[in-house]
Amino acid sequence: MLIQRATLLNGRRVDLRVGATITELADRLTPRRAEDIFDAAGGTVIPGLHDHHVHLRSTAAAQTSARVGPPTTTDPVGLAHALRSASADADGWIRAVGYHESVAGDLDRHRLDAIESTRPVRVQHRGGALWIVNSAGLAVLGMPDHPDGRLFRVDIDPGYALHRRDHPLTELGARLSRWGVTGVTDATPGQGQADIDALAAAHHTGELPQRPHILAAVGAAAVPGVTIGAVKIILDDQTLDLDDLIDRTARCHRAGRGVAVHCVTESQLAVTVAALRSAGTDPRDRIEHGALIHDDYLDVLAELDVTVVTQPNFVAERGDAYLRDIPAEDHPMLWRVASLLDRRIRLALSTDMPFGHGDPWAAMRAAVHRRTAGGAVLGPAERISAGRALDLFCGSPDRPDRIRRIAVGQPGDLCVLRSAPAEALAELGSDMVALTVVGGRTIYRSDADGAVPS
Ligand SMILES: [Zn+2]
Repeated sequence: MLIQRATLLNGRRVDLRVGATITELADRLTPRRAEDIFDAAGGTVIPGLHDHHVHLRSTAAAQTSARVGPPTTTDPVGLAHALRSASADADGWIRAVGYHESVAGDLDRHRLDAIESTRPVRVQHRGGALWIVNSAGLAVLGMPDHPDGRLFRVDIDPGYALHRRDHPLTELGARLSRWGVTGVTDATPGQGQADIDALAAAHHTGELPQRPHILAAVGAAAVPGVTIGAVKIILDDQTLDLDDLIDRTARCHRAGRGVAVHCVTESQLAVTVAALRSAGTDPRDRIEHGALIHDDYLDVLAELDVTVVTQPNFVAERGDAYLRDIPAEDHPMLWRVASLLDRRIRLALSTDMPFGHGDPWAAMRAAVHRRTAGGAVLGPAERISAGRALDLFCGSPDRPDRIRRIAVGQPGDLCVLRSAPAEALAELGSDMVALTVVGGRTIYRSDADGAVPS
């Protein structure tokens, strides 16, 4: 296709011809016969956004789940109402997400039984690591004697593991297209060949127009339409084992894969850094989240050949709770961005959808302003420019620190905004997206009233 009268971020006006890659870029290009033409009318053209850490199936499932956390649900009465009035999924389960102790304290099977004793119920804590299941649900899962029904299985939905029910991705794919997202990295742990094949099918049919990149388990192989990244490794503070992590890291490296290690606490980061120092690093190694990074780690991270994939959107989404619940001396260490870039630590941004809101533009604004919902500024020293924030959503799937550009030979995945560069960077809003293109094929046009079929 031909995109006319677009503006590069540096202010240059260009026409571009786009297929699988950007094939031509010039001040003026002559349309070919029957060529698909889009008039950018001076709007900014940028590489299509890539969200470097999401959970696709959980996001699709969350769309049909009851919400049992703030701000929707805030007290025990609201919790009981939300669960009792929820309709069951096709598999018979009541599925609820977003729970936080501020609603009704620590939940267990007995407290859920008091609300719902017949239908199987599973409630996910908003951190993603904990599911609380009632007695009817534990019976279905084959663990009727479980003491409290609190199942710590980070990122893995016990019902999903049991049924492997594939939630359709159509609505999510369309939403990502409207946001200008052309690729996503699925960071769900333990994904095997069946998950990859299912995503490949979803990509080929257009259900998920974005390019999927998967942090799949060792042994999984790429198939056409889906690329494979580092191996996701989950850490839990209760079971940290340095030797085991060294071993697993070395095994991944021998298999030609990087590791992507979940690090939200200081101890998780300490063990990961020690493991990478001992096992050695691969340029594709990643540290997921980096939620809390103390100053002592900055030099080490700069030394190690590793990319931090972080989520400043949590500053906006949960910042007020952090300010209330986390000791003040740790506030400057939360979801750091600027100080990592200053040390030349390789960095990329992402949203961790559905645990974070999936709008990458909101995440960019959070990186620029660091403003909480209540209006406070959390970690003002970690603010970055809008251009920087945008770049950090334009990394390559396999090397998130390598920023794609609008240039001949680059992938034909791009996004045209309605606004000129200065205005676009000042606003950083998803409603600026006018056109989203993957491999030279339009997946969204704002003037076409929704996603365009292939
Ligand atoms: Zn995640």
